Amino acid sequence: MSDLPGIRPQPGIMEIALYQGGAAHIAGRDSVVKLSSNENPYGPSDKAREAAVRATHQMHRYPVTDHLGLRTAIAEVHGIDPDRVICGAGSDEVLQFATQCFAGPGDEVIMTQHGFSMYPILTLAAGATPVVVAEQARRVDPDAVLAAVTPRTRIVFLTNPGNPTGTMLEADQLRHLAEGLPAHVLLVHDGAYAEFADDGFRADLDLVEAFPNVLATRTFSKIYGLGGLRIGWGYASPDLIGVMNRVRQPFNLSTVQLAAAEAAMRDRAHVERCRSENAKWRDWLTAALRDLGLGCDDSRANFVLARFPDQATAHACDDALKEDGLIVRRVGGYGLPEALRITIGDEAACRRVAHVIGRFMAERNRT
Ligand SMILES: *Cc1c(COP(=O)(O)O)cnc(C)c1O
Repeated sequence: MSDLPGIRPQPGIMEIALYQGGAAHIAGRDSVVKLSSNENPYGPSDKAREAAVRATHQMHRYPVTDHLGLRTAIAEVHGIDPDRVICGAGSDEVLQFATQCFAGPGDEVIMTQHGFSMYPILTLAAGATPVVVAEQARRVDPDAVLAAVTPRTRIVFLTNPGNPTGTMLEADQLRHLAEGLPAHVLLVHDGAYAEFADDGFRADLDLVEAFPNVLATRTFSKIYGLGGLRIGWGYASPDLIGVMNRVRQPFNLSTVQLAAAEAAMRDRAHVERCRSENAKWRDWLTAALRDLGLGCDDSRANFVLARFPDQATAHACDDALKEDGLIVRRVGGYGLPEALRITIGDEAACRRVAHVIGRFMAERNRT
């Protein structure tokens, strides 16, 4: 910090490792298939696109501050109370509200071994201390999480379904976890992939209704195909929402974001199509990878985790996929160096991935 005499960042900030996004380009290639960021290959609802374009006519006006239209759409679709909903620029912003409001210097924030990489970033930015709890064979162990709670614990972050594992805690395990947490600990259920898990999955919303210390977050970036627009939401008790609204900037979502998200939420046919296509090709790719002798857990999300015998093989296979214009994700940063996370694309993309990995494994077995 010698260039900044006297100017000192807050404690924790210089410990943050910059977020690594999924690659989008391969040097020397114009046409690639990006399967590295869990994006929806079918894109958003046409109705969302049209609503966004219409909203551009209002770009000279400030947006509403209360997000009532979007909160009402979310509430009607999910059968929940709009007064318990808060909207953010991606669910990342809602996770940030929670961390900023409820954790600070001297506090501990629990996350699990393969949990989402934003949690340590947000924790350190708030000056708090990340505490990482081991998973059992790529599954969150609720009892291990409960055993890690101390009087200093303020937040437990749970990615469910897990990213990059794709595994999931079911409603009874979630309840067990929530029941075991002391009242001073906020459980954040990050359901970025919840819509892919089951038709009408709502165990996270039920948990919020049963426990005053639970925040459920969802996003428009994954099944709704709006990652580029940045919209997410949270559901919690009115008291928690009231706290978080104090740190939310009044104009955190633009008119265009709000209009697109509301139309996307109401287009249930599009969501259903995306869910069923994803489930079909996820199961197909899982079976294809297992036929090749690779490890692959049942995934409840829109990606699978392919496990290779070792890191060198995983990296060599990643290189072979890149040669063919296919970009997947190395997940060494998530404690899984021997694995590659592959987003479920459309049929053509899934068939190409299976074909290239099959060719790679055949060549490897020959040499
Ligand atoms: C993609 C993702 C998010 C959501 O990010 P947005 O900010 O809503 O785009 C949150 N949690 C996990 C685990 C994710 O994979």
